[in-house]
Amino acid sequence: MKFSPDQLDALKSHFPLSVLIGRDVALKKRGAKHLGLCPFHAERTPSFQVDDTRGLYHCFGCGAGGDVLKYVEQTKGFSFVEAVEWLAGQAGTDLEDLEAVREAARKTRLARERFEAEERARKADDVVACARLFRDTVPAAGTGAQAYLMYRGIQICPESLRFAPSLPYYHQVDGRFKILGWFPAMVAPLQLASGAFSGVHITYLDTDFSRKAEIFDPSGDKLPAKKMRGNAWGAAIRLGPVSGELGIAEGIETSLSVMQECPPLVVWAAGSLWNMAGGWLGRGLPHPDRPGKFLPTEAPDPRRPAMTLPPIVQTVRVLGDADGRDRATGQVLLRLAARKFASLHGRAFAAPAADGQDYNDMLQGGDYGHDLPTTRRLACGDLGAAANVILRAYGETAINYPGDL
Ligand SMILES: [Zn+2]
Repeated sequence: MKFSPDQLDALKSHFPLSVLIGRDVALKKRGAKHLGLCPFHAERTPSFQVDDTRGLYHCFGCGAGGDVLKYVEQTKGFSFVEAVEWLAGQAGTDLEDLEAVREAARKTRLARERFEAEERARKADDVVACARLFRDTVPAAGTGAQAYLMYRGIQICPESLRFAPSLPYYHQVDGRFKILGWFPAMVAPLQLASGAFSGVHITYLDTDFSRKAEIFDPSGDKLPAKKMRGNAWGAAIRLGPVSGELGIAEGIETSLSVMQECPPLVVWAAGSLWNMAGGWLGRGLPHPDRPGKFLPTEAPDPRRPAMTLPPIVQTVRVLGDADGRDRATGQVLLRLAARKFASLHGRAFAAPAADGQDYNDMLQGGDYGHDLPTTRRLACGDLGAAANVILRAYGETAINYPGDL
């Protein structure tokens, strides 16, 4: 049996996308869409959206997205043709007409481009709201935001960090946004490689500033105390001036810990490991702990670089936390990030923190409680031993720690 483009469309709409994805992911209906935990990256709050009307899925956390065929390709490691054949098998039909497959691929691409253009327009509106929020903040020095950093053993306070005495925490409950509380907050601007303001990173704080705010949704689930608003994908939190050599880390606290201990290295925060690493090409090895899932590869996808840096940067030190829930993926993403930055800037190094820790844990030497910690200064030698060279991308010889960081 031959398939015309119309028949292929019919094949694609044979299952609502939410039904097919619902086999792998618990989805909740949110208005016209479905929401769930992303199958492509580890997360605790859902940023994975399925739109049955358009037949598209998208993750706002890691940038994964596409139609039903892309989903089958990404989750099963199939080529496009294999995905069509598999889907035809699920629908109980045969497939022979490759011309129709190509036509369907073209339509898919156009649909995705439309979706992405609409997403950009929506985010542009949000950037204006972020600029308004940012305008009402004050410099962090001497405020609760600096107190919070000092509780974490951090004595530096970059000019880019700001403080808001009271910000609302919005959370979607039964499809509607509700304010769960008002909290003091550390606010940092998100900037694209051009320097353009693209949003804000917000860290909600406890009212005594000794720790991050503890926020729970009505069903008792703990919610993240950090949020990024506006256009975070591709942006960086600039914790110091740009120069020829730059460090990149995931969070603000871990970035500042390395900056404090390893001057004059300036470290910028990516906000998430996914934004640091960007997209990848192909399919990685089977995930060691998650049956049926695959790791990312270490081959950067030049069309989805996520965070990029100004062209003046020549050397990038990618500093990875080693305390995440999905360590296998974290390790691959760290090397992927180093390869991406090496391809864009010439040289990059990947340096993971000590096993089970991030660089702020290392700075505090495990003493962190709710009292002011006794800070153990972290010698650069310690950092180097932990990092123990990991990668010099693109065939350059390994560098020697300590002494190079
Ligand atoms: Zn994701």
